[in-house]
Amino acid sequence: MIFICARKIALTAILVALAAATSIAADATEAIIPHRALWPDPVASPAAFDRASRAEILAFAHELAESDALTEAALNARLTTDAVDMPSIERTRHKLWKLLTDNYAIASRSCVAAEPFCPDSPDPEYLRREAIVFSSTRIPSRYQPWLADAARFQRSYLDELLLLAAVMPHRNSEIAIFNDNEMPGWDLPDREFLLTFDDGPTRPAGDEALEAGNTDRTLAALRDNHINAAFFAIGEPFAARLRDSSSEAMQTLYSGMCVGSHGWVHESHATSPRWKESIASSSKLIHDTLPEAYAPAFRPPYGQRPPDSGTYLKAQGVKLILWNIDSHDWDDSLKIAEVEQRTMSLMLLWRRGIVLFHDYFPRAQKVVPRLVAWLAQDGVTWADCHGINWSHRGP
Ligand SMILES: [Zn+2]
Repeated sequence: MIFICARKIALTAILVALAAATSIAADATEAIIPHRALWPDPVASPAAFDRASRAEILAFAHELAESDALTEAALNARLTTDAVDMPSIERTRHKLWKLLTDNYAIASRSCVAAEPFCPDSPDPEYLRREAIVFSSTRIPSRYQPWLADAARFQRSYLDELLLLAAVMPHRNSEIAIFNDNEMPGWDLPDREFLLTFDDGPTRPAGDEALEAGNTDRTLAALRDNHINAAFFAIGEPFAARLRDSSSEAMQTLYSGMCVGSHGWVHESHATSPRWKESIASSSKLIHDTLPEAYAPAFRPPYGQRPPDSGTYLKAQGVKLILWNIDSHDWDDSLKIAEVEQRTMSLMLLWRRGIVLFHDYFPRAQKVVPRLVAWLAQDGVTWADCHGINWSHRGP
């Protein structure tokens, strides 16, 4: 799919830059994945979740602090871009520091004496100061193998974000919002995650298509775990599956879920001259077929939308839904366990939000049950998609 190609080009650029900058003799196409087994503690209580969360925050903040010192030329070289949009980079850095500072304060509420990764000072600026000097010499030895691995992952993840910021707003994405009708997931309460699945529906099991049955199996995995999710369906395959079945069959398929639009076809809605028609026709089809499951929500393919789309979407009562945790389940080079470990580390780092998965691909249906089991004792909530305020009407 075009989706994979576009994201892979960006990733490859990042990895080439990393290999050059660190002289690591790595395959340039190899994704950098955290190895959660290096974390020496069970993550099986809210306090244990907080400890692992503080550690990831400090590891990421250290990489962010180091990158803050890079000049425009150094950033261009590191991100292998020709022209970095520095105001966009600055806005992103500012936002990341704010999120990290807030998250670190929340994750430190459970701190008791001698608890690892806790602040020595209540000063909000403590995180930035501590992040600069954060290193393996300052943490208990049993966490040192984890940090060597986590630092490598968090640096590559930071570069993903900086690359998105570097080309924004020229080529926009989930890295920043344009107006208050856009929801990236930061507003969810601490420890609450909304699962979202894009690019479906696939053909049903038994069809000759390679992806056949993936939507059905993803839905079954969610129901087995008693959670619901938001699906962002593409109009064309939705219409095809409806044509081959019935409204009743489609209602049964998505029963208990929320279904919004991912456009009529999978293309950038920032450049398509038909973007309004694409949203309107796909939303109407989903609404008419699934009156109960329909969510007045649009997820733009690749996160790309016209910067001024808010006026149209607000008038239609449709919210634009982005994400703040990209599982990378779209990356065919990743194994199920790798998608799982990347998602785990990002959930610890951001502590809440909207997780991007795809029912089109076969990985999420295996990853989600493992995440649910992993977080079962950590006080984490899976957001009820019916409780989300999708519609946005107003000036
Ligand atoms: Zn998509």
